[in-house]
Amino acid sequence: MYDVVIVGAGLSGAVMAERFANQLNKTVLVLEKRTHIAGNCFDYVDAATGILVHQYGPHLFHTDNASVFQYLSRFTEWVDYRHKVVANLTLVGQEVLVPLPFNFSSIRACFPNEHAELLIRKLRTRYGEGARVSILALRQEQDEELIKLADFVYQQVFINYTTKQWGKTPEQIDSAVTARVPIVCSEENGYFSDPYQCVPRNGYTAMVGNMLASPLIDVQLDTDFRERLNIDLMAKSIELDGQPFNGEVIYSANLDLLQLDHEALPYRSLRFEFETLVLKTFQQETTVNYPQHPSMTRITEFKHIPNSRQNADQTVIVKEFPVDYDPNDPVASVPYYPVFDEYSQTIFKQLKAQAEQVPNLTLVGRLAQYQYFDMDDAVANALTLFEKWKSL
Ligand code: UDP
Repeated sequence: MYDVVIVGAGLSGAVMAERFANQLNKTVLVLEKRTHIAGNCFDYVDAATGILVHQYGPHLFHTDNASVFQYLSRFTEWVDYRHKVVANLTLVGQEVLVPLPFNFSSIRACFPNEHAELLIRKLRTRYGEGARVSILALRQEQDEELIKLADFVYQQVFINYTTKQWGKTPEQIDSAVTARVPIVCSEENGYFSDPYQCVPRNGYTAMVGNMLASPLIDVQLDTDFRERLNIDLMAKSIELDGQPFNGEVIYSANLDLLQLDHEALPYRSLRFEFETLVLKTFQQETTVNYPQHPSMTRITEFKHIPNSRQNADQTVIVKEFPVDYDPNDPVASVPYYPVFDEYSQTIFKQLKAQAEQVPNLTLVGRLAQYQYFDMDDAVANALTLFEKWKSL
């Protein structure tokens, strides 16, 4: 018998398993539906090229949370890496690569010299050097030139990309989502602004493997939790292998799997196209966004990331095509991004309220808490929930 059962071996489940085992000496069973650990940050060395590939799209660690960084540093060494993204835009018939987030260099790449300098001066005066302004806030500007700039960035970078990504316009989604990629009042070309930006030296899978390495932790892969665990929201009770289970259950899978007759929570999913090319490098930066492409959002080339094999004669790229989540369609069956609207919030709150009635059940992570978590958020959230659980 185990003290704790954890559903899901992604980052959130791994933090919980590690804390229960290593801090509280509890025995832990982790049930994972996939054939691997590490959830969507799973990476592996591609056998043909030796390149470290992120199976579920690019994952670049960045945080301003020193305690999250210190915590994860127990399980990995790091390689410094500042992620760079450019947008591939066609402007007056010319292909231009424009740094993202849109910044002073981007303005210079898109506008004639004098006009660019005027816009930069106006942004500096209005917001101050280094300020980060969301596109939706910039669109509320009064200054005529800044309104034109906002319209340009909105049209070129945001409207098509966001509509592809979410099936909705920037105004129809949570404003925090487009605010992740602000207009930056500086020359800085980094995609993120956090003080810690790095990748695990041997990849995320190795890092999560170290988190789960305790002999007190058993990980059972390729196992739908329902094969062993019966979480009954009506009876407010849990069974493991047909016997009442009164230990703690930490649940990090989709919340709506707990109530199959309940309406499903909506997600956006992604279809990935991986290609191995006989080329030293395919593109200039790790990620190139294609706002104007009819269906693809971005291409990532893994060998630019310094923990990957950079001297390979070939290169591996992945193209991303957002699609509606459909659990019954193999190419759209991974729930990547929660869709925040009134409908989903209503369903989520109902399910959450029911789950909270089960005394030994804790919901954790992106899927179970229906949140758009970056990796550091997932770790911080799991550590906080663990401390909260301990103090009860
Ligand atoms: N976005 C956009 N154009 C871009 C990049 C981002 O419109 O070229 C918007 C889009 O709505 C996206 C959001 O900004 O979902 C957040 O982008 P981010 O790169 O942070 O998304 P993630 O890497 O999490 O998919």
